[in-house]
Amino acid sequence: AKVYLNGEIVTSENATISVFDRGFLFGDGIYEVMVQLENGIFYKKAHLDRLQENLVKIGIEYQVSELEKEIEPLLIASELVDQPCLIYMQVTRGVAPRKHSYPKGIPATAMMYALPFQLPYINQKNMHAILQTDFRWHRCDIKSISLLGNIMSNEAAMLAGTGEAALVRDGIITEGSHTNIFFVKDDTVITHPANEHILDGITRKILVKLCQELNIPLVERGISVEEIPTMEEAFFTGTSTQIASIAQLDNHTFHAPDDFGPITRKLQDALASLKEIDTSE
Ligand code: PMP
Repeated sequence: AKVYLNGEIVTSENATISVFDRGFLFGDGIYEVMVQLENGIFYKKAHLDRLQENLVKIGIEYQVSELEKEIEPLLIASELVDQPCLIYMQVTRGVAPRKHSYPKGIPATAMMYALPFQLPYINQKNMHAILQTDFRWHRCDIKSISLLGNIMSNEAAMLAGTGEAALVRDGIITEGSHTNIFFVKDDTVITHPANEHILDGITRKILVKLCQELNIPLVERGISVEEIPTMEEAFFTGTSTQIASIAQLDNHTFHAPDDFGPITRKLQDALASLKEIDTSE
């Protein structure tokens, strides 16, 4: 694979960073993931804006426009122009002697690659998920490359033979290990508020708008574990997940393996039709 690293496009074997890079030592950095469809990068501006906002949150002085102008050359070098692919971007604070305080005046390390990627079939079937204690920190709004809490929770889901972990903080379901979570009850869509306990997903934002357009009431509140059996539908959302209908969450079955909730289905169809139009701006 080809990699953009600090101003150059090189093969992955030649894309080397210092062991003193703060991303390597501290997980001191921000990342972003977007997908390119046949007709352009899906919600490109929203992803690049979020990357810039997150860098500002942790005081890394880097202009995302630098990475943006390298997307096209990278896609050309990767032979992925107009091809379905996933674009990963990461910016870390840079290279400095290991010390907790932020070093001043050093260049950030910027890295990006693109790999072929097909979005999953829109109506993914039979998603099972387990509940896991959300033992992450209190700044889950930051798209930090430090993902130990997320990957440990995801691994627990894999070991349990399921597809995703729904995270529970103080009895409330916050989000998935790499997805946001939604519920449906009485024709109302419910999702956790975009506060410091979740990542405000781009797909989540799109769904909030789609619900408005489709006149589906949406409430932003956390659902407690006790409420799960009273919910009618549930689904996970994410850039590479899209909308995955949850057949079973913990001990509760929402629907048969090859079935879907009707509102989940409606939103899946609405999201699918968005892909037909140019959403890059
Ligand atoms: N929450 C977490 C913890 C995530 O890692 C992700 C995916 N990066 C999401 C939610 C979904 O965000 P998006 O829709 O922007 O992919």
